[in-house]
Amino acid sequence: MDIEQSKQPAPPGNFVTADAPGYDSLLQCMRCGFCLPSCPTFQLTGRERSSPRGRVAMARAIAEKKLDLTAAMKEEAFFCLDCRACTSACPSGVQAGSIMEHCRSQVARQDGVSLSPARQLRAFVLEKMLPSPGLMKNSLVVARLYQRLGLQWLVRRTGVLSLGPQWLGKAEQMLPWLEKPLSDGLAELTPARGEKRGRVGFFLGCVMNLMFAEVSSQTVRVLAHQGFDVVTPGKQKCCGAPHLSEGDPITARKLAVANIELFMAQDVDYIITDCAGCGAALKDYKKMLEGYYDEATLHAFSAKIRDVSEFLAEQGLRSADLIPQPVSVTYHDPCHLAHAQQITAAPRILIKAIPGVELREMNESDWCCGSAATFGLKYVDASHKILKRKLANIAATNADLLITANPGCQLQLAWGLKKADMQQQLLHIMQLLGQATPV
Ligand code: SF4
Ligand code: SF4
Repeated sequence: MDIEQSKQPAPPGNFVTADAPGYDSLLQCMRCGFCLPSCPTFQLTGRERSSPRGRVAMARAIAEKKLDLTAAMKEEAFFCLDCRACTSACPSGVQAGSIMEHCRSQVARQDGVSLSPARQLRAFVLEKMLPSPGLMKNSLVVARLYQRLGLQWLVRRTGVLSLGPQWLGKAEQMLPWLEKPLSDGLAELTPARGEKRGRVGFFLGCVMNLMFAEVSSQTVRVLAHQGFDVVTPGKQKCCGAPHLSEGDPITARKLAVANIELFMAQDVDYIITDCAGCGAALKDYKKMLEGYYDEATLHAFSAKIRDVSEFLAEQGLRSADLIPQPVSVTYHDPCHLAHAQQITAAPRILIKAIPGVELREMNESDWCCGSAATFGLKYVDASHKILKRKLANIAATNADLLITANPGCQLQLAWGLKKADMQQQLLHIMQLLGQATPV
């Protein structure tokens, strides 16, 4: 089937066009309300329409022609964090986050092609920039010059961005110190060390490559030290998660096909990622491309995807030569690991396997940090309120380190820790394991 077309024969009810939520998925909700305590936007607003139940009810009303695609529905589609905490809590397995992703694609289609600068920029980023590793790297060059020429210092010193939109100021404050992209210096094959246990492909996500090169270089080093040949194909593309999040499933499908074909051509046992958001998207390719792509290949691809902590816990961490790390740590579960992939035990197994590390559990460790793709920039105040609840739970542990496993969480948490003047150092779990891994 043509990837640009919807597999649905016709969108249900008042949904406008392709890629609408499936009607059956809307009927699953029995309106019990078990999801309400787990939904950050409901807890924040107390509004039924900002709850999983309310959102699904609105989508169902549209599908049944009782409601148009109103401004309220559009707002709720984007105000949903897609954190999937509601799905973990729901006895029927209702996927309100995924339903809202589909509603976003409706909004994007209904609004159609517009010449407004914001819409043009969105189209450029989603359709041209993110699918092109070259353009992504060029954008990084500009950002690095901004930092290295002292412009960032000047901007921060003068506070000039406080005169502009709120999101711009926050985005600037969140920007980490940028090094060269990891893809520039990473060989396609990093050989296993010690007794070889297998051969894995490494999916290097865009944000990890551009903003957290040091983290992913540790991931590759740890995997090699654990006995795996690591193949990092140079031509990999964005996983498509930002496109689904912004209502562009067509570009997401194109990217998914490119990644499947690239990785299935490699002779690897597993495909590993250290980005929870990428892992969730890669595991979802099966659902995303159902009806568009060869089913057996989709199954084979999905069966190979592993988050790095899931993989190492499954394979068994070789810990005999790990260097003791005498620190206390607390762990924040990224939504796209805990709720989208149901992975909560594996990171804790790894943390506890490092000699000297004391794990101090925080309350509500799987409560969203408020980042959620572009949510943290679109709804700066709401995002900050959600983050404050997380920061209070982190502070209560009094742990030396805060550990997480997703770049979006890392950006948001680093911003929050700094803003709240908190002393905890923030690390990705692979940085912690990298510190414990001998050179
Ligand atoms: S989404 Fe699930 S938990 Fe929430 S009201 Fe519907 S059935 Fe109940
Ligand atoms: S995905 Fe998160 S924000 Fe969205 S409805 Fe579910 S719990 Fe609420």
